[in-house]
Amino acid sequence: MNYKISQRAASLAPSLTLAIDSKAKAMKAAGEDVVGFGAGEPDFDTPQHIKDACAKALAAGFTKYTPSSGIPELRQAIADKFKNDNGLTYKPSQVIVNCGGKHSCFNVIIATCEAGDEVIIPAPYWLSYPEMVKLAGAKPVILETSDKTEFKVTQEQLRAAITPNTRLFVLNSPSNPTGSVYTPEEVKALGDICVEKGVLIMSDEIYEHLLYDGAKVKSVASFSPAHYDHTIIVHGLAKAWSMTGWRLGFLAAPEPIAKAIDAVQSHSTSNPTSFAQKGGVAALTGPQDHLPVWLAEFDKRRRYAHTKLNSIPGISCVNAKGAFYLFPNISKTGLKSSEFCAKLLEAEKVAAVPGIAFGADDYIRLSYATSMANIEKGLDRIEKFCKSLVK
Ligand SMILES: *Cc1c(COP(=O)(O)O)cnc(C)c1O
Repeated sequence: MNYKISQRAASLAPSLTLAIDSKAKAMKAAGEDVVGFGAGEPDFDTPQHIKDACAKALAAGFTKYTPSSGIPELRQAIADKFKNDNGLTYKPSQVIVNCGGKHSCFNVIIATCEAGDEVIIPAPYWLSYPEMVKLAGAKPVILETSDKTEFKVTQEQLRAAITPNTRLFVLNSPSNPTGSVYTPEEVKALGDICVEKGVLIMSDEIYEHLLYDGAKVKSVASFSPAHYDHTIIVHGLAKAWSMTGWRLGFLAAPEPIAKAIDAVQSHSTSNPTSFAQKGGVAALTGPQDHLPVWLAEFDKRRRYAHTKLNSIPGISCVNAKGAFYLFPNISKTGLKSSEFCAKLLEAEKVAAVPGIAFGADDYIRLSYATSMANIEKGLDRIEKFCKSLVK
């Protein structure tokens, strides 16, 4: 049978991060001693009070459809979060709850972009952005950055990339995959350009709470009413509350965009899981004391890994100020990222994600959302591997 696959679907590259993660998990299941640096999720459990709220809702029969954009209680809790954390005022009707931060991004792009539109994405980028843009029929315009600028785009770069067809600029700070964080001044300057040129900003703030070395973030929406009017914030519960499997994300947007996304959602996924939403309310309104504990642990690992990586021949690594990834430069080993990661997995049973997946072939992504013991063991193996390459 010759199945016809739509061009839309055939043009997509499957998610390489998920592929590496499942290969490493399969090797582990087969009894091999694999060290996985591929995880895009915290290694901590969801806090108990969140699980309890969900279990209680399930037991009480909260198992039916909800409004497609989420229960009022959760939309209000999210609006309160934006008020308290970011000083931003959103009505619950401007807030949409959906099935993960990824789903938020997808719905923003589908609701705002079409054929002929261009979307500016700084590289290294979260690998789903360009594929989502292609799904919408629009064109990703990639801006290259390197470790020399801590992987941040400059105002000049952004300005030069904007054309009359530019619809959206994607800003992700703290960043997956690099962990880099734009300063409030840098965010404002990029926002100023978008406001001046009439370009919308999709600001992916899912790592907002995961910061180190005293780094500060300020949402691009918060600089002026014009910035607010040009910004759609995408966010979710996956990272700072360790709820990746719950599939709960949210966004906040100017009213007409929120309305359009509500319509998209009502004809595609409908509501995110009813009882998961009750867990979401508990996550946002309950105690947040898990976070300093997790951050202290992440920070310890980050410091160790950063120092160790820079002692390995052939590798250099700028430090991350947010999220839970490091993005070392491997170009001095003479290998490109796919070959490096394939050989590393084969020779030393260490799983890392090739930078090519994020549009940066001279780098690999290492997640430190894994135990200190794993990090020590895995980095020792990477050291051994690199010593075999760089003689
Ligand atoms: C993890 C992540 C998301 C959202 O993940 P979900 O599991 O869909 O909530 C969004 N953006 C970035 C950059 C991420 O790393």
